[in-house]
Amino acid sequence: MIRQAVIMAGGLGSRLKEKTASMPKGFVEIGGVPIVQQSIKKLIAAGVEEIIIGTGHCAGWFERLGGGVRLAHNARYAETGSMGTLACCAPFVKGDFLLLESDLIYDAAGLRVLINERRKNVVLASGPTNSGDEVYLEADADGFLLRQSKNRAEIRSLAGELAGVSRLTVAALGAMVSYWNARMVDTPKMEYEAALVAVSSDAENRTPVFVRKIERYLWREIDCEAHLEAARESVYPRIQEAESLLSIRRETLLNPGPATTTDSVKYAQVCADICPREAEFGDVMEWISTELSLFAGGGGVETALFGGSGTAADEAMLSSCVPEDGKLLIIDNGAYGERFAKIASAYRLNFDVYKSSGFMPLDTDRVKQTLLDGMYTHFAIVYHETTTGLLNPAPELCRFCHEHGVTTIVDAVSAFAAIPIDMDRDCFDFMASTSNKNIQGMAGVAFVFCRKEALEKLKAYPMRSYYLNLWDQYAYFKKTRQMRFTPPVQTLYALRQAIIEARLETIAGRYARYSACWEILVHAIKRLNLNMLVPEEAQSRLITAIIEPDSPKYRFDDLHDLAREAGFTIYPGKLSDAATFRIANIGDIRPEEMSRFAMLLEQYIKTL
Ligand code: PLP
Ligand code: MG
Ligand code: MG
Repeated sequence: MIRQAVIMAGGLGSRLKEKTASMPKGFVEIGGVPIVQQSIKKLIAAGVEEIIIGTGHCAGWFERLGGGVRLAHNARYAETGSMGTLACCAPFVKGDFLLLESDLIYDAAGLRVLINERRKNVVLASGPTNSGDEVYLEADADGFLLRQSKNRAEIRSLAGELAGVSRLTVAALGAMVSYWNARMVDTPKMEYEAALVAVSSDAENRTPVFVRKIERYLWREIDCEAHLEAARESVYPRIQEAESLLSIRRETLLNPGPATTTDSVKYAQVCADICPREAEFGDVMEWISTELSLFAGGGGVETALFGGSGTAADEAMLSSCVPEDGKLLIIDNGAYGERFAKIASAYRLNFDVYKSSGFMPLDTDRVKQTLLDGMYTHFAIVYHETTTGLLNPAPELCRFCHEHGVTTIVDAVSAFAAIPIDMDRDCFDFMASTSNKNIQGMAGVAFVFCRKEALEKLKAYPMRSYYLNLWDQYAYFKKTRQMRFTPPVQTLYALRQAIIEARLETIAGRYARYSACWEILVHAIKRLNLNMLVPEEAQSRLITAIIEPDSPKYRFDDLHDLAREAGFTIYPGKLSDAATFRIANIGDIRPEEMSRFAMLLEQYIKTL
């Protein structure tokens, strides 16, 4: 697993003349997007969590790049060459990393090739580019780098042309930096290729660097106008085409999860087989758990992972979080509150149900009074009732619970990662969610978030479920960094990628995008004289229950099939006492897609 990348971007780019006099080379645009930004996007899609950019010339430009990027400035960029910039990045590198030049366009396939390499230090090379600025590589009989030169005559057996995309270990980087440090006083100007060759060919203390040649690799370095011209005219279109061949047919899911995922999340599942008991996979799960906790407020939050769907998380909470002498109040104002009650009943908990309308806001004063009157010790509520799109006032009620010593259990399956949550602030002791909703991963991982102090108490509670026991799952993971039972390996890799993408978008940004889609939908609903089941101000803005049109011609299946034909999947209603259909706006969905769906809806309504 490669988690970091370094992009060396300190150079003056003087051969591009006035174009780069006051701009770094990486900001040269091809296809309307700066090439360094294209590179960052490819790295993130390949699963890189952090990109360290070594800056120099016009460093201020890089500050606009935003999420996922850390800048390391080389103040002596004019004298040091790329090796000085790389040395400035080195302190931030923690493990195996990808190393790139900023003035490149390349086919993302190269990143996949490097990530899949068994060898630890690898440079990508290609066949002839005829670019006029080739760096020729010579390798030994085993394919390891021995020499580099821009002068073809200095190379005996040609291993390829250096493409400027490599993978290295932190140890190789250390050796390169040491090599430079030892010579810096006499030769401050050193390019990283020279240090790479030095460590790979060092007779006494060799760190061999493998030359991985892809004969027809699509890449181009942009050092001068002629390169830029060739890149725009020929290489870039070919890269675009090659990458587009890997795109997956888009199906926009307007059902309330599993939600639409990005192609990068889908592809994250396609990786080398691994035994999940390996430490490397423990790292992946630990990272996922820590990052999920941060989305739930961080601090004292611990997240236990189970193989299972959202209901598994609900069941783990209910079966594990209520002591023998506990008394639970469950709010039921939709299918998922009702499911809470069914689970409580299966485990023979001591509980009561507070039933309320499926579409009108809860009467919070009455709930509070019921809590006090019934001497409840535990309270369970669904934050967002996906049944209708009703957003329950869970923070207000849970705060009240904490004021009265009541432990809170929240189903946030369809709220988490869209509605901002801070478990401390919101007084949620236990909270459930899942990998396939707003976090935008694949189905198969259930999360239970726990406030540490509430979690500690579970040790003493009866074990009602073996597989779904929350304390055991948590404690075993803390001790071993393993799930107790076989984890859904590939789904976890997809979840890792989904988290990388959610961190970049931020939860607030995600909710803003979802809300923008919802507003387009609501605008269309009103224009078409349709009615919504839940009052607008009580809605989550994540799913909308629309009352079926009052026409004998209306058939949900007709609307469904029309939408499906155009790449949209919609969902029937779920409340037994109201005829509705539901449109969710979660997942990797864009406002322009919702606009297209709104047009389809209009087209259908006009036929009635
Ligand atoms: N809770 C809520 C609020 C949900 O929306 C859902 C699913 O839509 C679930 C629980 C159950 O999740 P799953 O179907 O993944 O078991
Ligand atoms: Mg060059
Ligand atoms: Mg260059």
